[in-house]
Amino acid sequence: MLIHRHAYDAMIDHCISELPNEGCGILSGNSTVISRIWKMKNIDASPESFMMDPEEINDVLERIHYLGEQFMGVFHSHPSASPYPSKEDMDHFHYQNLPYFIVSLASSSPDVQCYYIRKGKAERAEFNMI
Ligand SMILES: [Zn+2]
Repeated sequence: MLIHRHAYDAMIDHCISELPNEGCGILSGNSTVISRIWKMKNIDASPESFMMDPEEINDVLERIHYLGEQFMGVFHSHPSASPYPSKEDMDHFHYQNLPYFIVSLASSSPDVQCYYIRKGKAERAEFNMI
């Protein structure tokens, strides 16, 4: 999978701006390249969990459709934990064909990893920046 560098940087910037809470958002693009991020409100407003507002998700999915783009994935941050999906992260993510990015801000430089969540397991996915 490919992600534009500006979208990758914007994802990290949004997560940093949400500290100390987890940040979250939606990714869109064409079917092969992620090119845009949608900053979403974390309605949990928590450093240890996130939840998106279903109405905001619907609104963003409509806007993605209007732009002729596709829903390409979801991201959220771990302010003080490794970039590995928690049990709750896996239980709450139901898009088995979409990548799930996790931005860890636990160390001095952000560590971003990407997974597919299938059958209750996290499979690491490779991504490249363009
Ligand atoms: Zn998480």
